[in-house]
Amino acid sequence: MNIKTRFAPSPTGNLHLGNIRTALYSWLFSRKFNGKFLLRIEDTDLTRSSEKSKKNIIKTLKWLNLIWDEGPYYQSKRLEYYNDIIEEMIVKNLAYRCYCSLERLNVLRANQISVGKKPKYDGNCRNISRTFQNRPHVVRFKNPKEGSVVVKDLVRGDIVFCNSELDDFILRRENGIPTYNFCTPIDDNKMDITHVIRGEEHINNTPKQINFLHAIGLKAPEYIHVAPILNQEGKKISKREDKLYGIESYQKKGFLPEAILNYLLRLGWSYGNLEIFSIEDMINYFSLKSIGKSPSMLNQKKMLWMNEYYIKSLPEFYIVQHLKTFSESQKNLLKQKIDLNKVAKLFKNRCQTLLEMIECSLPLFQEKNEFESIIPTYSSKAFLKLLYKFQKKISDLTDWNIISINSIILSLSKKFQIDVKEVYMFLRFVLTGKNQSPKISLVIYEIGKKITISKINYYFQYIYQKMIKK
Ligand code: GLU
Repeated sequence: MNIKTRFAPSPTGNLHLGNIRTALYSWLFSRKFNGKFLLRIEDTDLTRSSEKSKKNIIKTLKWLNLIWDEGPYYQSKRLEYYNDIIEEMIVKNLAYRCYCSLERLNVLRANQISVGKKPKYDGNCRNISRTFQNRPHVVRFKNPKEGSVVVKDLVRGDIVFCNSELDDFILRRENGIPTYNFCTPIDDNKMDITHVIRGEEHINNTPKQINFLHAIGLKAPEYIHVAPILNQEGKKISKREDKLYGIESYQKKGFLPEAILNYLLRLGWSYGNLEIFSIEDMINYFSLKSIGKSPSMLNQKKMLWMNEYYIKSLPEFYIVQHLKTFSESQKNLLKQKIDLNKVAKLFKNRCQTLLEMIECSLPLFQEKNEFESIIPTYSSKAFLKLLYKFQKKISDLTDWNIISINSIILSLSKKFQIDVKEVYMFLRFVLTGKNQSPKISLVIYEIGKKITISKINYYFQYIYQKMIKK
C-alpha cells in the first residue's frame, strides 16, 4: 500500500502544540513508509477563516521543516466540485433538503433535553416529496437508521456507534457552503489518503464520515485519534489560549524547531526510555502502536530542558542562523548591533532559549554597565591600580586572542598579589555588572578592545562619582 497522510488544519487561528503534534505524527508516518504527506487547508467556514492564519500555517510548517509533498489544497476553492456531488446525492435520494426553521429545531432540542434524550434531528424533512429550491434550506445526509458503524481506530481498537444515535447531519448549510463532515471525507477519499491521524475531538465525526463515504460507494481511510494535550491546570489546550500554547509564543521565547518536534513527539508517544530523537531516529522508530491513549500533560520545564539540549548540541553556525531569524522577527529586541556569532560563542552552552542568549549578551556589548552595589574591595586602591594597568595593557595589546588576554590577567594577579580568581571576579563585575558570566577572558575577547576600554572608563567614572558624593 502507498501510504498517504494529510494535515488538514482549519485556518481559524494559529496552530497550537496539539495541532503540530498531529501534523508531526502524520508527517512521520508518511516518511517512515516512503509515502506522501499532503497539506489541505479546511477553510469552508468563511467567517472564521482568515488569510493571516493560512499564511501562518504555511510559515509555521516550513519553520518546523514539516514539508508536504502535495498541496496546499484549499477547500474554499473546491465548492463547485462539492456542490455537484451534493446535487447528485439528492437525485439519488442519499441526501435531502431540510426546510426546518431554527425555531423548530430549538424547540425540538429543548424537548429532547427535557426528557433526558440526546438532542438529534428527528428526520422531519427526510421523506417529504415536494422540494422548494428557492426556499432557505440545508441539505442533510440520510444516515442509515438501523445497524451500527464501527470505527476501527488503529490505536484505540474498534469503537462501535449505533446508527440510531447518529443524526441526519448537515452536508450543506443554508448559505450554500458544504460542511466539514462532507468536505473532509470526500477529500480524504479523492485525495487517496490512506491514514487519517487527527485529534480525539473528531472521534464523534468519524462514524458519520464513514457512513457517508459508504453511502456513496467510497472506501473510508484508516483512522487514528490522538489524545489531547492538557495544560498545567489539566484542561485541554485550545486555539483560544493562543497566547500561551500557540506556536508563536514558543517562537517568541526562542525555541528551536528541533526541540519543539522532539518534545511533542515524546508527549503521547514513546520508544523505551529514549528522550532525544534526531529526525532520522523519529522516522526510524515511529510507530502508530506506541501512541498513547490517554491525555498528556504539558511540562514547560521539560520543554526548556529539551531546548537547552538542542542549543548546546546543534552546530554553532546553525544556532547563529536561528539567532538571526529570531532577532529579525523580534523588532525591538536588539537595541544595538550585536554580532550574533559572538552571542553564540558566549552563550551557546549557558542558556535555555535564544531569547535568553540575546538578553544575556546585551549588557556585555553596552559601553556602560549597571552596578547595583559594589563590594568595598572593588573600589580599594589595589584593585583600581590593577584595573588601570589592565586597561593600559589591553589597549597596547596587538595580538588579540584569549591566551594573551588571560596572560595579562595572570601577570597582574602576580604583580598585585591578588588571587587570580578574585581578579577574574573583579573584572567580571567591572565588565558585565554581574557576578556570573562566561569565562571573562572569552568575554573580553568577544566584546573587543574598544568596548572593554570604555567599560573600564565607565567604571572609573562611576567610582569617582561615588567617592565625591561621600
Ligand atoms: N480541519 C479540522 C480541524 O482543524 C481537522 C479535520 C481533520 O483532521 O479531519 O480541526
